[in-house]
Amino acid sequence: MNRPRFLLLLLVLAIGLLAPSVTQAQSTSALETQVVNGQSYVTGDSIKKFYGFTAMKKSGRQLTFERKDVRMKFLLGQQDVYMNGVKFIFSFPVLASSKGCLIHRIDFAKIVHPVLCPWNVNKKGAFDTVIIDPGHGGHDSGARSPHGNGMEKNHAMEVANRLSTHLRKRGFKVGLTRSTDKYLTLQQRVDFANKFPNAIFISLHFNSGGGGRAEGIETFTLSPKGVAHYGRGLIASDYKDKPGNAQDSANIALATAIHSNCIRYTGRKDRGIRRARYSVITGVRHPAVLVEGGFLNNRVEGSLIKSTAYKERLALAIADAVVKYKVATEKMQRR
Ligand SMILES: [Zn+2]
Repeated sequence: MNRPRFLLLLLVLAIGLLAPSVTQAQSTSALETQVVNGQSYVTGDSIKKFYGFTAMKKSGRQLTFERKDVRMKFLLGQQDVYMNGVKFIFSFPVLASSKGCLIHRIDFAKIVHPVLCPWNVNKKGAFDTVIIDPGHGGHDSGARSPHGNGMEKNHAMEVANRLSTHLRKRGFKVGLTRSTDKYLTLQQRVDFANKFPNAIFISLHFNSGGGGRAEGIETFTLSPKGVAHYGRGLIASDYKDKPGNAQDSANIALATAIHSNCIRYTGRKDRGIRRARYSVITGVRHPAVLVEGGFLNNRVEGSLIKSTAYKERLALAIADAVVKYKVATEKMQRR
């Protein structure tokens, strides 16, 4: 990783999720909106003013908002967005406009605002428990390496055990959906998690696909109402609120903390924070994420995943991110 990028990411860590300069008293209803094709968008000019950005620079199709502690970069017409170097996949393309740009209301409310103002996100108050969900198990092995690098279910279990140790050292209680190589339905995982009163939920997986050429880490959080599951079009049920949607803002804040740490600690390719409707993150009533910690079917990344050192880096990255998320969302509430 080159030094400027590393420093930018360090900045993210140092200031919580990103940086506070908007007070709790300000309401986002002050932002200017515009309707395009029946969809509501927030204007770039009003975002610049509201969050105190000192510059909004346009170069070709690239638009950058700058403040001394935050840099947001958009490509007009696209959904990839970088906030302090961390990649987010918006649910709608950012549109060009005479007012800088237009950001869809859902992406504004469900990504931009909670990431810039994380102290607003935690409606349930302090959490003391982290539920770790190692994916797959038993007859469901998950992804398998064609290069002798093992099975997803076992790698997920090992990261879960290491993460559990790190979290306990940091003072958290830990609940594991499984601690042995046994099969659990997705509903059993959800039911287990929902028994805890104040918790966050982290599901651990490894990827497969892309013909062995795909690589990198991606982190999923639940699609907000009106946003599809990753990789498919909208269906009628996407317009209904799911249990996990009560935590929309907290979900993206938790994903930001965990994803940015995983990329920074491992140096793997950043595939972004994405939206999905996987059963576990849909049904769990706590802030929840699903981490895909690399591609097991990629020869190089698979051999990394097989190594203890890589799994330890991932576990440490996530444990430190949980502390970062807690500080950013709970300390700010007391201001
Ligand atoms: Zn999996």
